[in-house]
Amino acid sequence: HAKNSGRNTFEVFRAGMNELIEKRRALEVDMDAALLNGEYELFLQPRVLARTAEITSYEALIRWHHPERGLVSPVDFIPVAEASGRIIALGEWVIREACRVLAETEVERLSINVSPLQFRHGDFHQRLSEIVLEAGVAPDRLELEITESVLIDDDQRALMLLTALKEDGFTIALDDFGTGYSSLSYLSRFPFDAIKIDRGFVSNCGEEESAAAIVHAIIHLGTSLGMRVVAEGVETFEQALFLSRSGCDEMQGYLLGKPQPISCLATSVSEAVAAVLTGLTAQERLK
Ligand code: C2E
Ligand code: MG
Ligand code: MG
Ligand code: MG
Repeated sequence: HAKNSGRNTFEVFRAGMNELIEKRRALEVDMDAALLNGEYELFLQPRVLARTAEITSYEALIRWHHPERGLVSPVDFIPVAEASGRIIALGEWVIREACRVLAETEVERLSINVSPLQFRHGDFHQRLSEIVLEAGVAPDRLELEITESVLIDDDQRALMLLTALKEDGFTIALDDFGTGYSSLSYLSRFPFDAIKIDRGFVSNCGEEESAAAIVHAIIHLGTSLGMRVVAEGVETFEQALFLSRSGCDEMQGYLLGKPQPISCLATSVSEAVAAVLTGLTAQERLK
């Protein structure tokens, strides 16, 4: 009897695995078509200066308009693209599209997310330089967001690459700081221009004392190392107030603006938000 039920469990497991594998394979096939059919789009989310409420740049976040499934989240397809190597071609599309936006629109500065595999790929720096040069875009208008995981495996190579990219004029941000391994020594060893405090800490900093303490510590640490500190996922006035009082340089989040198609890009934040950040009402600010 036990043997039987064991076998049944395994059959169920195997059927489940097969289904997962099939789904993943279907997604991979669809991803190849998506690149050819132009189903990807970059949405832009504003990054706002805490002191003045001015929009200084935007983060490019990829969206997939799937012909049958509708809008697919990057959380669902970026990992699949990573695992199958498709992230290299997709990542190049992101760089090209970001450069097109910088060349053809009013947008001054953009951040793009670079996946670990893309960053480690031998051609990355050269392809990036070629695309940027071809588009006629100054490298200092493009910021590369990387996560700590790219620093772990071969930190000597990562350091050389980051240094070379910075010499070319690109700026580098450490994304999702506070998650993953978060070795503090990374911050002093690598030449980041900015660190982005992960949403997980930001969303609790208004209520939870421990999250508030961590946010404080990251701001102090980043600032004393000469890096800009950016808070991700700011959703409430309380969080914005706490962050700006704590000396956070920039903010990003639904409160300040959601990721939007380029055609409906906001160029300023709402008056209410601006008033909270600057501590002044609209009338006072006009004087
Ligand atoms: P990320 O780079 O950390 O981006 C921040 C994510 O938080 C985005 O999710 C953004 O839409 C979301 N977000 C922003 N403000 C708020 C807020 O106030 N509240 C909440 N709940 N969420 C907020 P999204 O667009 O789904 O992207 C998820 C992740 O997918 C990104 O995390 C990034 O790691 C990856 N990704 C997105 N676009 C690209 C891309 O072009 N290339 C690569 N390699 N990865 C990308
Ligand atoms: Mg990011
Ligand atoms: Mg992030
Ligand atoms: Mg993330």
